[in-house]
Amino acid sequence: MAAFEIIFLGTCACDFSPRLKGDCKDRFDKDVRRSSSILMNGHILVDCGPHTPGSLAIAGAPLASVTDIFVTHLHDDHFDAENIGRIASAKEEKLRLWVREDAQFAPIANTEVVRMRIGQRYDARDGTAVTPLAANHTAYPQHFIFERGGKKVFYGLDGAWVLTDSFRAMRRQQFDLLILDGTVGDYDGDLRISEHNSIPMVRMLLKSFASVGITGPSSQVYLSHLAPSLHRPHGETEEICGAFGAHVAYDGLKLTV
Ligand SMILES: [Zn+2]
Ligand SMILES: [Zn+2]
Repeated sequence: MAAFEIIFLGTCACDFSPRLKGDCKDRFDKDVRRSSSILMNGHILVDCGPHTPGSLAIAGAPLASVTDIFVTHLHDDHFDAENIGRIASAKEEKLRLWVREDAQFAPIANTEVVRMRIGQRYDARDGTAVTPLAANHTAYPQHFIFERGGKKVFYGLDGAWVLTDSFRAMRRQQFDLLILDGTVGDYDGDLRISEHNSIPMVRMLLKSFASVGITGPSSQVYLSHLAPSLHRPHGETEEICGAFGAHVAYDGLKLTV
């Protein structure tokens, strides 16, 4: 059995298409991306944004099956308190909400908040260990290393580049899967590079990752959190990234690690 079964529930930055309220209301589409989130092993959610309950429904996962939500940061497209409340209220036991230790937000009914310290390793459910790393972003940001059954997954969005301490922590290990911020398309000169990656930045990062063993021949790399207004259509972006060994996530994509 795979250590991680992952489904991408959304892969968008915050420039959402109006089609999400129209023909894509109840289905996944590679070019009409929903708010970024993944579901791991059927019960661990990373982020819960404006579209996450609808995406769970499309994926056939009941709200009550979510036991834990790991929160990358508190921007609206990743932390929607009303939707987290909907998931929490669908459950009998409390929903565990994992946030950075200093995160400030109003209480949400039927949740147990776990405040995480950067660099400390935590045991979640089902033998999953989680280590938050510092991220170059705002709103109490953190990246995550998820470990289970000897496999390692890095979840690094939102954020630009990798901060020094995080790079040092990452280079002690090789990852089976890395999910990286790919907000900006394949061009130079975008104003967002101090908080998000562009494709040229990911291209450079991956060469450095390989040089220190963060990635190896069997590592899978996927870009997520793409801004459709800053990218070519999905198929073309997949081709551009394929040239340097990366893939582009899309809503509904399933991966096993
Ligand atoms: Zn975002
Ligand atoms: Zn953000």
